[in-house]
Amino acid sequence: MTLSTVTLGKGVALVLFVIEKDYDISKIVDPIQLDMFNYVKEVYDDLIKSAVPIQLEIPTTSCSSRESILNNNDRFFIEHTLVAQHQDSKTHDQLTKHLNNCYSCFQLYSQFYKDFYQADQEIRQTFGE
Ligand SMILES: [Zn+2]
Repeated sequence: MTLSTVTLGKGVALVLFVIEKDYDISKIVDPIQLDMFNYVKEVYDDLIKSAVPIQLEIPTTSCSSRESILNNNDRFFIEHTLVAQHQDSKTHDQLTKHLNNCYSCFQLYSQFYKDFYQADQEIRQTFGE
């Protein structure tokens, strides 16, 4: 399998697969992807240890285009995707509202999940579901 670029979404998809399947990651990725995998796994392990979710200050109006709350917010995406016990419905509702109002956050959010779902499908098709 060759993944040409290694996005955060791909890293998260790799970690999800390994958590679910207890798979030996070195069999499925090259060293470049392994760097991203290790980075995401490290953040994930750190988040899992914490009982308290990271607090995302969700603005009621749209962010300025240069200061999206989701910009470079890897911890948010890793937690939001992989740490189910840290997700609460109030934050989810606020985030959903914000994504409707804030185009820069919506772009970052949709790009991350596009990368994530593409990589997730690719991994599952290649290594079996
Ligand atoms: Zn925003």
